[in-house]
Amino acid sequence: LEKHYRDMQDMEFTIEEGKLFMLQTRNGKRTAAAAMKIACDLVDEKMIKPKDAVLMLDPKQLDALLHPQFDAKALKAAKKIASALPASPGAATGKIVFTAQDATEWVTERGEKKVILVRLETSPEDIEGMHYSQGILTVRGGMTSHAAVVARGMGTCCVSGCGDIKIDEENKTFELGGMTFKEGDWISLDGSTGNIYGEEIPTVPAKLTGDFARVMEWADKFRKLKVRTNADTPKDAKQAKDFGAEGIGLCRTEHMFFEESRIKAVREMICSDTLEGREKALAKILPMQQNDFEQIYETLEGLPVTIRFLDPPLHEFLPTDEADIADLANTMGKTVDDIKAIIRSLHEFNPMMGHRGCRLSVTYPEIAVMQTKAVIGAAIKISEKHPEWKIVPEIMIPLVGEVKELAYVKNIVTETAKAMIKENKSKLKFKIGTMIEIPRAAITADEIATEAEFFSFGTNDLTQMTFGFSRDDAGKFLKDYYDKKIYESDPFAKLDQKGVGQLIKIAARLGRETRSNLHLGICGEHGGDPSTIEFCHNVGLDYVSCSPYRVPIARLAAAQAALKSAN
Ligand code: PEP
Ligand code: MG
Repeated sequence: LEKHYRDMQDMEFTIEEGKLFMLQTRNGKRTAAAAMKIACDLVDEKMIKPKDAVLMLDPKQLDALLHPQFDAKALKAAKKIASALPASPGAATGKIVFTAQDATEWVTERGEKKVILVRLETSPEDIEGMHYSQGILTVRGGMTSHAAVVARGMGTCCVSGCGDIKIDEENKTFELGGMTFKEGDWISLDGSTGNIYGEEIPTVPAKLTGDFARVMEWADKFRKLKVRTNADTPKDAKQAKDFGAEGIGLCRTEHMFFEESRIKAVREMICSDTLEGREKALAKILPMQQNDFEQIYETLEGLPVTIRFLDPPLHEFLPTDEADIADLANTMGKTVDDIKAIIRSLHEFNPMMGHRGCRLSVTYPEIAVMQTKAVIGAAIKISEKHPEWKIVPEIMIPLVGEVKELAYVKNIVTETAKAMIKENKSKLKFKIGTMIEIPRAAITADEIATEAEFFSFGTNDLTQMTFGFSRDDAGKFLKDYYDKKIYESDPFAKLDQKGVGQLIKIAARLGRETRSNLHLGICGEHGGDPSTIEFCHNVGLDYVSCSPYRVPIARLAAAQAALKSAN
């Protein structure tokens, strides 16, 4: 039967009075590791070809090979108390902490091995603590919320948008599924299913075998799409490279602004009333930012790197803590009330549709100047050290909706870059492109392409802006849409091909009408989703970019897309 069906079979039979009756046969269910082994064995036995092996695997199953899983026996005995969004795969168990600072302290000072960070939502300030956590559970936020995106990048388990939690962050307790949890209690999360368990469940570490490498090699032979990664740190970039990433498709520079050593200078820049004041603060940030990029270029060893300029609204960087506000006032020679007034003035009712992305560079061109100096300075330095890498910086301007605003920012970048290149007697080439993440940019892509050398589809914002619902809050009501069969799946996880996909098709076509060699990629979270990857292949994109742990999934999905379309 296995030879007949060319797949491992799960058969049922009975023997009655010495006679064999076959009752049924079907392709056997298998774990991810078994799926790899079976595919390789079938090829070795010449029962199938490598292309059949590539097609028979489920890319999503790879998650189970790349992240820790619960011990199967212990999981059977455990009781699920709730479920929420499966925001970042893998299993995690640990003691509950309520602040990122506690996560860091419990691990580094108290020697706790496993903590789970439970937050209303996370913000960029929480990144260090997120690094020390086994898993992250948030009350608010969808599949592209801060917690989800950052956790996925780190390969850390995350369950987000658990609105059933009644949390009291101040007193460090929460209620869920009829249980009350306090700091230090055990909890377990399954980031692949979104399930939550109110107890400790042992996990088994991820383990890759030689079969995995063989399958990946086959996949690479068939795929046409390149696979890049979304990475902001050398550590994430290295992980992605080890998983086969062929470059960075999105380096979000703002995450670099939050490090303790530089957040003060960032705040000084934001709170300065004069250009001189801002430039003084930016001058402090420049060497640190240049150093970030040098490390990234070193890690990538000549592979392409797309660096995206500052994107979030500035108020995200401002202090909320009274002590930090007082500290900032003191450094800047202002009063606490002055700083509070600036913070109030930066408040926006709709920050996601507010003063962010390229709009910041239009108001404060000096930010774009500093970031250009950092990118070009790093590229020149590393190119001198490694001329064989032929580094060509790709600078990406976010949130463009109008060609003139792109032209304005591009001009600043070009002038700054050219001056530096001349000053350093360098021959460095660079590219300037944009994200297509606003519907207006997609439908005026022919104009945008007159200024942009590449497009990267930012489908997180493009989905948000096309549907008109918030990527952070939509989870609250989307479940009603699934229940009522209005939407089949989360449009922030799986691309809405009919609407958002239509905009991508239009933009790709219009963009290439203007510039036939326009390089096209996707860097929204959808870039790691197999069905979206198939769509990207069919639309003719050049690459997909996804978080490091999704790179193998993308390689396999891209190969399947190429094989399916060839068929
Ligand atoms: C996007 O909008 O798809 C994107 C990649 O940018 P960010 O998630 O940083 O807004
Ligand atoms: Mg965006």
